[in-house]
Amino acid sequence: MSNVAVCVRIRPLSEKEAQYGSMVPCIRRSDQESFTFKDDKEEESVFTFDRVFYEDSIQADVFEFVAKPIVKDAMNAINGTILAYGQTGAGKTHTMEGPNMQNLDDSSSKGILPRVAQCIFEFIQAADETSEFLIKLSMVEIYMEKIRDLLDATKNNLQVKENRAKGIFIAGVTEVGLANRAVGATQMNAESSRSHCVFLFTIQQTNSEDRSMKTGKVYLVDLAGSEKVERTGAEGKLLSEAKMINKSLSALGNVINALTSETGSHVPYRDSKLTRILQESLGGNSRTTLLCCCSPSSLHVSETLSTLRFGSRAKQIRNKPKVNAERGRHELEQLLQKSEYECEQLRGQ
Ligand code: ADP
Ligand code: MG
Repeated sequence: MSNVAVCVRIRPLSEKEAQYGSMVPCIRRSDQESFTFKDDKEEESVFTFDRVFYEDSIQADVFEFVAKPIVKDAMNAINGTILAYGQTGAGKTHTMEGPNMQNLDDSSSKGILPRVAQCIFEFIQAADETSEFLIKLSMVEIYMEKIRDLLDATKNNLQVKENRAKGIFIAGVTEVGLANRAVGATQMNAESSRSHCVFLFTIQQTNSEDRSMKTGKVYLVDLAGSEKVERTGAEGKLLSEAKMINKSLSALGNVINALTSETGSHVPYRDSKLTRILQESLGGNSRTTLLCCCSPSSLHVSETLSTLRFGSRAKQIRNKPKVNAERGRHELEQLLQKSEYECEQLRGQ
């Protein structure tokens, strides 16, 4: 069993926020794990997480702490998930993807996604010679409770399925092989703040001697903005859309509440596409990190507080990561020999 890890990233003040220079920041740094938060009534509370990345943190640090251990585990067939949560403008896309997905050179500003791709290849190069790897990448967007394939625009209503061999999967989703280079994404929905973006790396490893197979998955999820609908002043179509989006995010909240409730209530994974896809990541077979993105400005104090509370709650989720392996020929032969021997022993008695 392992708990969901929760990290917080606080972005630098934006220019607009800095214009309100007289307003004090609502977060006061203590150390790498805690800070003091001051709410709009000037009340202070201390929050503690697995790690806090302050305004001066760099992309490489976030990757090293949050993503690298997850990639390392995935190379050993343990599933991993990283979820970026927070209000629109808090830094989710900057952290997960980087400032510009079309230009993924070797710059220091690139986010977790291209670094994960690069890291997988570094691990492959260091792996021993008997391992053969197949790396696949899928990208989908969940918008208004529809799953759209970002690698094939004609697939705009994919379904989530489950079977014994694959666990939970998106049926018919495009999977591309990864060459030894960074990846570029296709055009995402214009309203990206209202959609959830899910990237999935599948790492399949075959032992060339006994043909045993291991598979590790890494989900990277850039969630829709967590801000409350009322505050955006949405009406008509926008309001119904906002409610739909809220459906996935509130379902996420409900799943987390059910998983952390002491009475052990029913977990409503099937209430939304998002929670269904993430079923294994929350309370199941995955090592999971929630990354809460926050603005440091007191302008956003109530949204930031709600993000921090969401993170505190998620910290209590217990997952059960395991190695996803199929037995190889050697191991099966040994098992067969052992059972034949045991049978003979029984007959001899
Ligand atoms: P979100 O995806 O949560 O809506 P973005 O990632 O698009 O937010 O960030 C909003 C703005 O803030 C962008 O212009 C982005 O470049 C900037 N930003 C976010 N995080 C950082 C950071 N850590 N350092 C510098 N700029 C950042
Ligand atoms: Mg974004």
